[in-house]
Amino acid sequence: MPKMAQMVVNQKRSGIREIVELSQGIEGVYHMEIGEPLFQTPMNIIEAGCNALKEGYTKYTPNAGFMPLRKAISDRLNNDYKLALKPENTVVTTGGVQAIANAVRVLTEIGDEVLLPDPGWPNYENIIMSTGAVPVRYTLTPENGFLPSFEELKKLITPKTKVLIVNTPSNPLGVIFPEKTMKEIVSFVKENDLFLISDEVYEKIVFKGKHVSALNYDTDDRVVAIYTMSKSYAMTGWRVGYAVASEDIIAQMTKMQEAYVSCTPAVSQKAAEAALTGPQDFIESAKESYLKNRDIAASILNEYGIDYFMPEGAFYMWINAKCEDSTGFAKELLLQRKVAVASGRTFGPSGKSFIRISLASPEETVKNGVRLLAEYIKEKN
Ligand code: PLP
Repeated sequence: MPKMAQMVVNQKRSGIREIVELSQGIEGVYHMEIGEPLFQTPMNIIEAGCNALKEGYTKYTPNAGFMPLRKAISDRLNNDYKLALKPENTVVTTGGVQAIANAVRVLTEIGDEVLLPDPGWPNYENIIMSTGAVPVRYTLTPENGFLPSFEELKKLITPKTKVLIVNTPSNPLGVIFPEKTMKEIVSFVKENDLFLISDEVYEKIVFKGKHVSALNYDTDDRVVAIYTMSKSYAMTGWRVGYAVASEDIIAQMTKMQEAYVSCTPAVSQKAAEAALTGPQDFIESAKESYLKNRDIAASILNEYGIDYFMPEGAFYMWINAKCEDSTGFAKELLLQRKVAVASGRTFGPSGKSFIRISLASPEETVKNGVRLLAEYIKEKN
């Protein structure tokens, strides 16, 4: 038998999936492990999807996506961030995850190094490894407000470094880059002749301050910004995301669409167009519910004197469980208290004593689940 690709075989399974699977068959679990909005997709978007199917949007689409959707994307970004993008600066992908995968594929040769955050979304590492590039972690520490340290980044740069990945608002921390940090990041990638992948999928879920896009400082076309319909519009299962970059980069990323998926499903693209051009009030009401859950969780954790980072955006909370091995901790917590959380270790080595909860869970789940979690942390320490 020939050997399968070792770079795939060697990839770790998602620690979050493991918890999901372990929880199957257990009754009455408080689920706070998965990062997706608890809401149904707003009805105007569902109706647009149903109508699109009836009207015959059941076929292949252009590789980069339908032009009216690409125009809706560039229009809304121009409006939100005062940019001057054209539809040709956009490519529609099957979720933000594929936009990131296409970008890494297009920007790196095999063996090139990609800098990624620790803690950071676990898929970055899998994506980088599956393209044959090499993941190199930079750490986000509380001493630095969980923002990238330029001193550390400089030390990590080698002749092989090609791309820096940043994420704001961030998963799992909920940190938002201030304007100054974003400016410095874009200057840093210029000085070091790198590309920047700026993952901004939580841009609309901001509790404090405002989201700053890397696109605002991209004067020489080295930024690829990543967005999704999944989080803002509760559309995780529709699989629509998009990337924004120079026309040259987008042309290459569009080739990757052809190679991997041909196109994003027509029906999902029509629904996404309706979402971007229709009423936007859902975003605000969903955000209010995440904020309420954040404050409930914070007050319970304060009551028990447990250390956590107060998220400024996205819908997660990074909690110090003060354990040696957060993966073992998450499994025990599930089996003994029926509370499902994500192990911090899944997000990188610096997360080994932390866990992440999702605030996009029902309020009752947060109330009961966080109390059980807090009691358990206390008991163990
Ligand atoms: N980036 C981050 C930081 C995420 O947390 C996620 C999803 O959890 C994504 C990108 C991609 O989401 P999707 O592929 O659903 O657009």
